[in-house]
Amino acid sequence: MTGPPGVPPGLCERCRWARVVRTPRSEFRLCLRSRDDARFPRYPRLPVLECAGFTELPPGEAVPEGPPPREQG
Ligand code: SF4
Repeated sequence: MTGPPGVPPGLCERCRWARVVRTPRSEFRLCLRSRDDARFPRYPRLPVLECAGFTELPPGEAVPEGPPPREQG
């Protein structure tokens, strides 16, 4: 678990590798880089203040929603 709803996600808020995953009681950021690189946790502890993988989204784009945790492989 990375935190209750309302925890600021830090860099994951503006990263192209992030996906928002919501459950009834929590909100997560799934890091897609975790699929290929063990340095990155699947669900990083928020807020992420420093990250070597951060890649900023273009202006006007937002982090999309991802699949619920049970559908992750
Ligand atoms: S690469 Fe870093 S900043 Fe981007 S989603 Fe993953 S943990 Fe968050």
